[in-house]
Amino acid sequence: MRLILLGPPGAGKGTQAQRLVDKHGIPQLSTGDMLRASVQAGTEVGKRAKAVMDAGELVSDAIVNAIVAERIDQPDCAKGFILDGYPRTLVQADAVEAMLAERGIALDTVIELVVDDKALVGRIVKRAEEAQAAGQPVRKDDNPAVFEERLREYYKKTAPLIGYYYAKGKLKTVDGMANIDAVTAEIGRVLAAAAK
Ligand code: AMP
Repeated sequence: MRLILLGPPGAGKGTQAQRLVDKHGIPQLSTGDMLRASVQAGTEVGKRAKAVMDAGELVSDAIVNAIVAERIDQPDCAKGFILDGYPRTLVQADAVEAMLAERGIALDTVIELVVDDKALVGRIVKRAEEAQAAGQPVRKDDNPAVFEERLREYYKKTAPLIGYYYAKGKLKTVDGMANIDAVTAEIGRVLAAAAK
């Protein structure tokens, strides 16, 4: 199964991706996690991405496309994967399409988590507080000021993907405002129906 989770920052993509990993035994490919790992490791990519990420803007298409192209060739992706936070632009959407076509595979489903913007800042603040309480590092971009920019980037560059995938007949929408278990259950139903 090859799946994309689409939705603004704080929509719950990471949480739901993790549950899908557990259920289906396929990896979660989060470009945000991969970029943070590069920043942490101080690689060339990490050095170029850091300031852009801290500002809540999008890293260049060339960088993220290259990261994903390399990642999907790893053996653990053979049975499928969940793309979380990628693609985020139309250029990336075309790139993933081409990448998969080159490998003779295709996307199965795109799930859009539909959420109320007003609730999102609260979720991000909560995520930062929970990370802190658990002694984990708090993401530099999980604060209300940077969040506004991340949301603007989403509407400007990522939201057009909703129409893109709708036109391809791949888009399924799920209410992301329901509680976490209810969202998981709805995603399960959507995937089961899509598989028929
Ligand atoms: P995320 O963890 O998905 O919220 O991503 C955190 C940050 O990483 C974003 O605000 C961007 O700066 C960068 N990023 C992650 N994925 C992408 C992507 N597909 N395209 C461009 N930038 C990305």
